[in-house]
Amino acid sequence: MRQPSARSLNIPPFIVMDVLERAQQMEREGRSVIHLEIGEPNFDTPECVRQAAIEAIEKGETKYTHSLGLLELREAISENYELRYGVAVDPGRIIVTPGTSPALLLTFAALLEDGGEVLMNDPHYACYPNFVSFLGGMPVYSPVFAQSGYFPDLEDMAARIGPRTAGVLINSPGNPTGAVLDTKILEGIAGMGVPVVSDEIYHGLVYDTMEHSILEFTEEAFVLNGFSKLYAMTGWRLGYVIAPERFVRPMQKIQQNFFISAAAFVQRAGITALRHTQTEVQEMVRTYDSRRKLLLSGLRNMGLPVPVDPQGAFYVLVDARHLDSDSHRLAFDILERVGVAVTPGIDFGSAAEGHLRFSYANSSENIREGIRRLSEYTSEVTNYEK
Ligand code: PMP
Repeated sequence: MRQPSARSLNIPPFIVMDVLERAQQMEREGRSVIHLEIGEPNFDTPECVRQAAIEAIEKGETKYTHSLGLLELREAISENYELRYGVAVDPGRIIVTPGTSPALLLTFAALLEDGGEVLMNDPHYACYPNFVSFLGGMPVYSPVFAQSGYFPDLEDMAARIGPRTAGVLINSPGNPTGAVLDTKILEGIAGMGVPVVSDEIYHGLVYDTMEHSILEFTEEAFVLNGFSKLYAMTGWRLGYVIAPERFVRPMQKIQQNFFISAAAFVQRAGITALRHTQTEVQEMVRTYDSRRKLLLSGLRNMGLPVPVDPQGAFYVLVDARHLDSDSHRLAFDILERVGVAVTPGIDFGSAAEGHLRFSYANSSENIREGIRRLSEYTSEVTNYEK
């Protein structure tokens, strides 16, 4: 009997989804679970955005669009980068995709020859190395440490760049660390002489600081962004990539073959999200910030070390090595025993092993209950050890 391909057998699972799916099974069996694992806003998509999609459907915008995306959406994206970062982006360099994940696929497909290397930090977003390996490339890791606020070590990165390096991948605000890279680091990375792939999906979700786009420092960059996080639109599947001009046509062909286009009415909703949701977004950011503080103090009060205060995104990375050095076993034990779903650090690379990632994209009430259950767990484990 023919077996599934090595490519499909070898791709690792996205562990957070495994945790979520086990948690949902427990819920079906009648158990209560607090979800602090998934990076999905608990907010509804802003009303005006939903309305824009409904109107577009009613107007019959239910067909394919141009494979680069609706020109008006690409103009709105361009406007947004001009307004926020003062950079000029020709809408002709923007490819609208059904989510940021397809934008990652298009980018690495266009950048990588077999054996081409992509340098990234460890910890990193779980799926990055899997995109790279799936497309015949090789992830290369430069570790980041809590002592330096999870900021990259530019010297270490430069030392790992060689003739096979196809690009450097960065993500600020970062998942899972919440680190927001400053201009000095971005400038350093932009000056490394290789294309920079900058995943800016958490832009806008920053607290007491400001984020910068890589485009302020270099044009030799692929900027990936999407609507899932900032506009609470995970299920709509809308994202984009801004690419250097010579890459646009090759990436467009990949999009034509693999995805054709993002949904027309979803793109219409995206225009409204970019132009008309300032108030809603501000309110969501304020709410995330208060949840961030709530979660940080709750974790620290129960003796769980948070080495670095996150400044962006909606995650807290906790050092849990005193509980168990195996984060996968620990996360599933917490889930089974007290019904709190968290993501094992190992999902984000070996540098995050022994850690747990908490998402505060959930309500304050649920965060409080999660903390209460978790303190039960930690005191049980600590008593047992005594
Ligand atoms: N990049 C990062 C860093 C993410 O955290 C996520 C979602 N968890 C994505 C990309 C993918 O987002 P989407 O495909 O929903 O736009």
